[in-house]
Amino acid sequence: MAISNVEGLAGAVQGRVVERGDSGYDEARALYNAMIDKHPAAVAYCADEADVSAAVQFARDRGLRIAVRGGGHNGAGLGSVDDGLIIDLSAMNNVTVDPAARMVRVQGGALLRDVDAATHEHGLAVPAGIIGTTGVGGLTLGGGVGHLSRGCGLTIDNLVAARVVLADGSIVDTDAERESDLFWAIRGGGGNFGVVTSFEFKLHPVKDIYGGPMFYELKYARDVLSFYRDYIADAPREMGAFPAFQIAPPLPFIPEKRHGDTFVLVVACWSGPVADGERALKPFHDVAPVFAEHVGAMPYPALNAAFDGLYPTGLQHYWKANFVKELSDQAIEAHVEHGTKVPAMTSTMHIYPINGACHDMASDQTAFAYRDANFATVIAGMWPDPAQNTANTRWVRDYYDATAPLSEAGGYINFMAEDDQSRIKANYKGNYQRLVDVKKKYDADNLFHVNQNIKP
Ligand SMILES: Cc1cc2nc3c(=O)[nH]c(=O)nc-3n(C[C@H](O)[C@H](O)[C@H](O)COP(=O)(O)OP(=O)(O)OC[C@H]3O[C@@H](n4cnc5c(N)ncnc54)[C@H](O)[C@@H]3O)c2cc1C
Repeated sequence: MAISNVEGLAGAVQGRVVERGDSGYDEARALYNAMIDKHPAAVAYCADEADVSAAVQFARDRGLRIAVRGGGHNGAGLGSVDDGLIIDLSAMNNVTVDPAARMVRVQGGALLRDVDAATHEHGLAVPAGIIGTTGVGGLTLGGGVGHLSRGCGLTIDNLVAARVVLADGSIVDTDAERESDLFWAIRGGGGNFGVVTSFEFKLHPVKDIYGGPMFYELKYARDVLSFYRDYIADAPREMGAFPAFQIAPPLPFIPEKRHGDTFVLVVACWSGPVADGERALKPFHDVAPVFAEHVGAMPYPALNAAFDGLYPTGLQHYWKANFVKELSDQAIEAHVEHGTKVPAMTSTMHIYPINGACHDMASDQTAFAYRDANFATVIAGMWPDPAQNTANTRWVRDYYDATAPLSEAGGYINFMAEDDQSRIKANYKGNYQRLVDVKKKYDADNLFHVNQNIKP
């Protein structure tokens, strides 16, 4: 184990430093996933890229392990490290929109809701994830899947440049021309190659959308899932929609006596003309009776924040994921068998569509290799009480064991649990060797290893 020596760190960076034993230490080390209980030697709240560079060099010189924390959302707890240094980017959350150029520059510690708020003012959006409190950093570096993926591609497909602090502390700009290997690798390869202090994304004209969740009785689960599979294969690209299993939360649009019952859902996001929204969602109303819904025209950030309250910081998380090319009848049976047994109101299973614009990029064009997959599934165990850990992780594992053989070998790295490191090669399939080569070039000593790690 590395020696924990952080003496002098506070003088090396401008931002606040919290060390073990300081008041506020437990708050500073807390992660979104309360199941992960790591004790870093210190947390450095970097103020700018010079601070990030100083922190990297400080840790490197002293043999301290490094974890980089963007939004801290990672289910595997990869934003922290025992006895090492957390380079926390939360103070670096500026978002600067250039509406005329349809571009946005986002600092590495911003949250999705920061980006949504700033871009929505101009009627523009970056395609990203479905929860506002997720960090742009981790989400983007893994790929970035969400409501707009079918129409606008993954988040990385909209990344045009980034600034990165490398393992030697140097600061480089990267894009298709500059450090192009690095630019290729950070689009899906996670935090393996350096600390990204800012991202530049192109923006899409998405302001208000038509959509929301539709709840169906479980007896329609098979019909809904098979309809969804067929419909989404060639639905208009403006249609983002994913099915889910969900215990009904106490929401006003769900009759009180059904709170706590399990339903199959479709969450839709029609980003075409709002006036066409009702017509666009009609197929979802025709497939089976919708028991309850909260569907209509709304600002895009409202849908992106709609579930934030359901998923506060401090839940226990255990997730499993797969890519899927064909959602077979057998797979649907497995989903019906296990999805209907979802054990907690905050646990769920989502099948995200990653066809449409996500297929416009070739599998080797970015590090994100599964451009031939049509879906990214996630079995997301999330529950409040650690006493329920065994039952909830069991549900996730049983569900995964039933569906993984009917899926691709790899899954989306951002939906992986701590025990999924053995799947790294499968997650990158044909791109893995190039990732190793880029890792050797930029981080031969594997300084940045607290991630879904690509070993040099
Ligand atoms: C409730 C919930 C909803 C989610 N919804 C979606 C979704 O809709 N779509 C989707 O694609 N994903 C989704 N995710 C998964 C999410 O993308 C990952 O959890 C991601 O790792 C979160 O990034 P973060 O910055 O918040 O995490 P952190 O825990 O801060 O970091 C995660 C990893 O990324 C690295 N990292 C973070 N920022 C940087 C940076 N600036 N430079 C270098 N490395 C960095 C870290 O070192 C670490 O290895 C969701 C997660 C949760 C918990």
